Amino acid sequence: MSKLDCVVKEIADEMRQRPDRGAVADYIAELAHIDPKAFGLAVIDADGELACGGDCDTSFSIQSISKVFTLTLALGKVGDRLWQRVGREPSGSPFNSIVQLERERGIPRNPFINAGAIAVTDVILSGHQPREALGEILRFMQFLADDPSITIDSAVAASEDRTGFRNRALANYMKSFGVLENPVDFILGVYFHHCAIAMSCRQLALAGRFLAHQGRNPSTGLSVVQPERARRINAIMLTCGHYDGSGEFAYRVGLPGKSGVGGGILAIAPGKASVAVWSPGLDASGNSHLGRIALEALTNRMGWSIFGG
Ligand code: GLN
Repeated sequence: MSKLDCVVKEIADEMRQRPDRGAVADYIAELAHIDPKAFGLAVIDADGELACGGDCDTSFSIQSISKVFTLTLALGKVGDRLWQRVGREPSGSPFNSIVQLERERGIPRNPFINAGAIAVTDVILSGHQPREALGEILRFMQFLADDPSITIDSAVAASEDRTGFRNRALANYMKSFGVLENPVDFILGVYFHHCAIAMSCRQLALAGRFLAHQGRNPSTGLSVVQPERARRINAIMLTCGHYDGSGEFAYRVGLPGKSGVGGGILAIAPGKASVAVWSPGLDASGNSHLGRIALEALTNRMGWSIFGG
């Protein structure tokens, strides 16, 4: 067994035994049923070696992790003009906060808080029907993970739609400032569905590989984005990927990462590995509690923090 294999198995065992698991998101009813004892970890290194621990083949709702991929698509579509519609500063506020939008005239702080991701979804939707835009996002995920079986969990999307009052408020508020081009219902329909994409840790780690290797999948040689763009997406993941918990994540884990309320985290060790972890219980900022602890253990044991040490 390689060192990476041993470390991944060790961490999965340690996490299984921990009693502190955080609280499963319950504002989306479908997510409230998920077993808080689940835990999965998948790591793919630069040579394509895959190390898997725990429930690494169980699908979960990727939720806000999808925002990394919608950002990539929107940048591909409109390039740096995207930054006229959304900022790239950490918000220091919860993922679903509305407070900054009034002062900043409807321009969300960054593409990873809900308001910012809704603005990014609007960019992807322009010129398309919602169904086409959603198809483009799903096909992109399937392409990156090299797995056409990846689907959207429509029960999760419907459940979020039923209780999506805050996201409706955010979108309507932005619309009032003229920041969104498309009808709010269309944008939210696409947003709720891309958040409801279901993937396993293994699939997600595969999908994130281009970010670890200067925009290219080293196994296929296929380029997804230019190196400069991969570097910048990683920078935004580091500063904004965990909302008001981004500082703590950088301090403890030291990698660009993006969390979702389904309990998943995608983390990138540039030049080294793409990592996906899943534990459904969340901390107070809505980030996976054990997911973060597992990643901290992984970067410590592998020496992967981007800050050295
Ligand atoms: N779909 C979720 C929402 O809009 C995503 C939030 C998250 O994963 N942090 O509330």
